[in-house]
Amino acid sequence: MMYNSNDIVEVNELLNRFLPNDQVDTVLEVTPDYLKNKGIKGVITDLDNTLVAWNQPAATPEVIEWFRVLREAGIEVTIISNNTEDRVSFFSKPLGIPFISKARKPMQTAFKRAKKEMKLSGDELVVVGDQLLTDVFGGNRANLHTILVVPIVRTDGFFTRFNRKIERRILHHFKKTGKLNWED
Ligand SMILES: [Mg+2]
Repeated sequence: MMYNSNDIVEVNELLNRFLPNDQVDTVLEVTPDYLKNKGIKGVITDLDNTLVAWNQPAATPEVIEWFRVLREAGIEVTIISNNTEDRVSFFSKPLGIPFISKARKPMQTAFKRAKKEMKLSGDELVVVGDQLLTDVFGGNRANLHTILVVPIVRTDGFFTRFNRKIERRILHHFKKTGKLNWED
């Protein structure tokens, strides 16, 4: 098969929709200083493998402290998860953090709803998550700043496993083209 340069430009543009603005090892690196330097006033965060392992029901002391520090700095947080209402509310309610479950990321609906409820503009919001195909792609589509975190554990829930196969190929491309650093 022959490719011309236009095809390659199109493929690159397509793949760039999965490229996060930043990458960090853990959500704990997303500090008030880090956010304020970028003019960010609100964080939309994923839950599974971003805040805690996908199969861990409740927040850890580190994550509880992270929420506390952000709140103290006046930064709003909303949890947006594709997981069930039971899972997401069990985690979020004790912390008093607003949440949207069954969000169907990468669809933009939940991102738009969170933006409206947080009363912030697009450039005041950041999306944090561990998946290119849902968190980063969805956040980019909604025109929000995106931060990719390394998944907390290497295992995933049933549906995520399919996405990870595609994700590995995209990550490999970003690594090869020097756009992301990634340890396999
Ligand atoms: Mg996740």
